[in-house]
Amino acid sequence: MIIRKQFDEVMVPNYAPSQMIPVKGEGSKVWDQAGKEYIDFAGGIAVNALGHCHPELVNILQTQGQTLWHLSNVWTNEPALELATQLCKATFAEQVLFANSGAEANEAALKLARIHAKKQFNNAKTEIIAFENSFHGRTLFTVSTGGQAKYTEGFEPLPGDITHLPFNNLAAIEYHISDRTCAVIVEPIQGEGGIIAAEPVFLEGLRALCSKYNALLIFDEIQTGMGRTGNLFAYQGYQVTPDILTTAKALGCGFPIGAMLTTRSIGNSFAVGSHGSTYGGNPLACAVALKALELINDATLLAGVRQRQQMFVSGLQQLNHKIGLFRDIRGEGLLIGCELKPAWKGKARLLLTRAEEQGVLILTAGPDIVRLAPSLIIPYPDIKKGLQRLAQAMLAIKVGL
Ligand SMILES: *Cc1c(COP(=O)(O)O)cnc(C)c1O
Repeated sequence: MIIRKQFDEVMVPNYAPSQMIPVKGEGSKVWDQAGKEYIDFAGGIAVNALGHCHPELVNILQTQGQTLWHLSNVWTNEPALELATQLCKATFAEQVLFANSGAEANEAALKLARIHAKKQFNNAKTEIIAFENSFHGRTLFTVSTGGQAKYTEGFEPLPGDITHLPFNNLAAIEYHISDRTCAVIVEPIQGEGGIIAAEPVFLEGLRALCSKYNALLIFDEIQTGMGRTGNLFAYQGYQVTPDILTTAKALGCGFPIGAMLTTRSIGNSFAVGSHGSTYGGNPLACAVALKALELINDATLLAGVRQRQQMFVSGLQQLNHKIGLFRDIRGEGLLIGCELKPAWKGKARLLLTRAEEQGVLILTAGPDIVRLAPSLIIPYPDIKKGLQRLAQAMLAIKVGL
């Protein structure tokens, strides 16, 4: 019998998982070792876009698993070439580089921006502009780029020439950006930072400034990509085209894969050996992601995301009308944030625990914000049932439990 106590004995104490251990998932439901059922509003942190164990993904994984698992990048493979082709068809991109995670996709994007500036312009063009409160991953370069000091503390010295400016404040960028800037990296909706959407004029302004100063505009769509917002990628809703786009989380719907998408003229600044990965573009990951892309890039599925958003938001507003824990309910598509009122400040994690007790899995985004990122195809009855359970958890918090 595997027990939760083993975590504290044999795992580096880098996480603090719940006491229950999930053992099975199907669609938008999960069961723990005791057989208790949970409705999944967390989606593996915006990863399981097609729920748990989607039959078509299971099928493709099994088929590819019996065909070809891994080669490295010394040889290419059919699933990788087909996935890259379809990602280019579905977006502005003309070239793709595969990685295994979001942080790795951003690492590649930032390295490409630096080398592109050196090759096309000059050695002084190295500054990266990023935003306060942003999140771009946990490698040293990506935490340094992210705008949350708590994630870099203790890991100094950090990679240099990264400037953090306020989000949604175009004047600050306009004042600061220069010919020394090689890239601006932005999340169209700040996810870990609290589900804060960029204003359209902000992204439009960034696009114009980047073009003016020959800086690359990088959209980190690791959390917002693959249908999460009701568009395949969030940029398509904003109608602002980046130079580089990174995606990961839902790309493999739970099978680890990341990708950096760009244009030919920028991608060609990498040469053979500029960057590398043993696993990047692995056939198992690419076969699953190819099927996921086919299923998600579908007008009916994407319309369903917007319908489900309506159901979530109106359901949450109704609960909040009665119980009143939240000061704001916001988000795009199925990336939803509920900000706690000052009276309940810091209680997001406690609400997560209470929700789990009631049989619904939710997420936080910082101490004051509850985040929901369920499957894009979560059945309507599961939304209803999950919200009822969430209401019980909210009531528990309200009475001080
Ligand atoms: C999750 C996330 C990352 C990091 O992805 P990993 O796969 O955990 O490395 C980077 N950027 C954004 C916007 C994310 O949400």
